[in-house]
Order: sequence, then C-alpha cells, then structure tokens
Amino acid sequence: METNKTFTMIKPDAVAAGHIGAILDKITKSGFKITALKYTWLSSEKAGQFYAVHSERPFYKALVEFMSSGPIVAAILEKDNAVEDFRKLIGATDPAKAEPGTIRNLFAKSIDANAVHGSDSDENAQIEGNFYFSAFEKF
Ligand code: UDP
Ligand code: MG
Repeated sequence: METNKTFTMIKPDAVAAGHIGAILDKITKSGFKITALKYTWLSSEKAGQFYAVHSERPFYKALVEFMSSGPIVAAILEKDNAVEDFRKLIGATDPAKAEPGTIRNLFAKSIDANAVHGSDSDENAQIEGNFYFSAFEKF
C-alpha cells in the first residue's frame, strides 16, 4: 500500500467562491505534488457512490445534494506521509474548530460546505483516486 498519496476535492462552495487557485497554491506550497487533476461536476448518483460509506449518517442526503450542486476539482497529491499531512493542512471537519491557517479555516463556511475533501487512510486514498482517474490520467 502506498503511503505517499492522498486524494482531495475542492468542493462546490469553494469553487463557486473563486478559491480554486488559492487552494491549489496552498497545497503545492505545502509540499504536495499534483499527480492527477480534473475539473468536473458529479451527478447525484456519482456523489452518492463516492460518499456511500456515509449512507447511514443523517447528513448523507444533504451531502450528496451539496456535492452535486456545482463543479468540483479532484486531484491526487503526492508527498511523504500524504494522508496525515494533508488532514493537518485542511483542518477539522467543522471550520469553526479548524486551526488558524488551515484550508478549512481560511476558505470554509460551515461543517457541510467545508471547502475541501481529504482522504482519511492510505486505502481510501487509493480507492478515491481510482474513482476519478484512469491510469492514463496519473503522472
Ligand atoms: N458532514 C456534514 N455534517 C456533519 C459531518 C460531515 O455535512 O455533521 C459532511 C462534510 O462535508 C464532511 C463530509 O460530510 O466533509 C464527510 O464527513 P467526514 O466525517 O468524513 O469529514 P471529513 O473527513 O471530510 O473531515
Ligand atoms: Mg472523511
């Protein structure tokens, strides 16, 4: 299992607010290399599949609606200790609890519209990257 890759999405709220450039800049300046990148718009079916692990949670339906409400940016990122370091860079799920200077502290509005996704394990990073990208789209 690779330990130097993670997967991220810039969510519809941050895309709509014009933060794609600032967020990618912060990611690359923090030492992550972008090895795959895509600007796309999830159908509700695709968003539901991506978040299937949360299907029993009370926020699932709203999450699927939100994630399919506008375009997103998906990316695979490379760095030593990628999953853990990227979770530190994005901050807590609830931006009110995210450390100053983290991406969610800087760019997120609420616990649901929280600007970015970050994988929570090496295994999920691989599954999530493969959800979006074929072998020909990873460099
Ligand atoms: N979420 C939400 N309400 C909650 C918890 C989570 O709307 O009470 C949304 C939020 O967009 C979050 C996503 O569901 O990013 C996935 O939740 P998770 O607990 O995996 O948080 P994350 O790993 O994104 O920090
Ligand atoms: Mg999560």
